[in-house]
Amino acid sequence: MSTQKRKQSSNIHPALSPIVHPWIRTFIESVEFSELINEFGSPLNIHCLEPFLENQQEFEAVFKAQNVKHQIYFARKANKCKTLVEAAKKQKMGVDTASLQELKDCLDVGIDPATVVLTAAIKTEPMLTLAAKNGVTIILDNWDECMLLHQIAENLDLKPIVGFRIGGFSFRKETLSTRFGFGLEDAFGIMTRHLGAGNKFHRFHFTTLHFHLNGYSIPQRAAALIQTIRLSDRLKSNNISCQKIDIGGGILVNYLTDQEEWDLFYKELRSAILMKRDPVTFENDPLGMVKIENEIYGSMQVYPYFNTVHKGQFLKAILDSTFDANDTLAQALKKRNITLAIEPGRSLLDQVGITIARVVFRKKNQQQDWFIGLEMNRTQMKSSSADFLLDPIFIPTQAGRADAPCDAYLVGSYCLEQELILKRKIRLKTLPLPGDIFCFINTAGYMMHFYESQAHLFDLAKNIFVHRRHDGWHINADAY
Ligand SMILES: *Cc1c(COP(=O)(O)O)cnc(C)c1O
Repeated sequence: MSTQKRKQSSNIHPALSPIVHPWIRTFIESVEFSELINEFGSPLNIHCLEPFLENQQEFEAVFKAQNVKHQIYFARKANKCKTLVEAAKKQKMGVDTASLQELKDCLDVGIDPATVVLTAAIKTEPMLTLAAKNGVTIILDNWDECMLLHQIAENLDLKPIVGFRIGGFSFRKETLSTRFGFGLEDAFGIMTRHLGAGNKFHRFHFTTLHFHLNGYSIPQRAAALIQTIRLSDRLKSNNISCQKIDIGGGILVNYLTDQEEWDLFYKELRSAILMKRDPVTFENDPLGMVKIENEIYGSMQVYPYFNTVHKGQFLKAILDSTFDANDTLAQALKKRNITLAIEPGRSLLDQVGITIARVVFRKKNQQQDWFIGLEMNRTQMKSSSADFLLDPIFIPTQAGRADAPCDAYLVGSYCLEQELILKRKIRLKTLPLPGDIFCFINTAGYMMHFYESQAHLFDLAKNIFVHRRHDGWHINADAY
């Protein structure tokens, strides 16, 4: 009886079905992917701007419903394509830049510099000079940066627009520690002592308090925003006016259709790590959990791919949080006439991109596991998450093949034992053939670009943009 049970449970394959935007479904149905790969190479990143606009509209609807003055800055670092900057301009959205080239791209494209913010972690003299000359808001992170920017402003007779990045908020009796920005008291001290006529940083035109929190907690963001509003009140009593509070990014995205699948995957992974069933990940990778003497410690070090509160609802939950006995955060901001800025990267790119790759080989290893070799490497679909927990869509190139389900690992082109495209074992309706295609869903935010490297001198993947017109799909291959 008990062996039978164990045997049964070892047959459960925990699927993780991705949410698939309608553009992706119709595109898969109407376009021959192997032709695209013949033309552009494998892997290929395919983007569509429809969801980019929808996501922006979702955020705007939340702000408008509460009548909160707002500014959306698209966090460019989540995807390298300049076409997205052009789209941001067309959609009248600002951009958050994190390097000299990102900043140059915005100015090239002609985005109003008043809607560009520079939050780069390391700000060099050319970067600060370009931003200051163009009236881009510069988010100051540390004292040396203040000194350098002020010196540039003196030399060039400029009045740069600045914000201060703050951190070290209190949350449930603890401090949210960070390597970024100034502590709240330090920021208060520097601003009250050194801003304004006759003072050390007299050239700075201060407008903004900024923070960006690690992780995806709504209560932490609400707590940080409350403390930032209180800081702005104290500054006001010192005749320093804060026009804008920028709460950064980290707005959650939901990638998966089904909470039950998500819960089951976690359960089956734990049971595999405890050797109670066959592995669901390569070499029983615990995805960041630790097993010590048959106990599992810690949690999966992965993005929370399934979420019930995400995108617009996530923003709304922050705005609806309590400020004090009378006001929500939305009301507190309105009373003070403060603009609320956000810097979404991942969430604006939700459903914007897919990555397709071609099958090159199938083989079995000593444990009789199938390995499917893809013409791509693992940096071409990688984030800081321990695995990308979405099932890819398998697209056989010849129709009508008999179903013969099999489990397999996808491996890539770097010469490493651990070169897996996905650590998860995936279930396929039939064994792939060379030339078949795998399509990975929702890769535009970070996955396709953030860690892509050129080891072995492989080319970087090509990026194309597609859009539908009444006469079918149009491909813009000049996008980059
Ligand atoms: C990375 C980053 C963002 C974007 O974060 P997402 O999670 O992609 O929304 C915004 N602002 C700053 C300062 C960042 O470092």
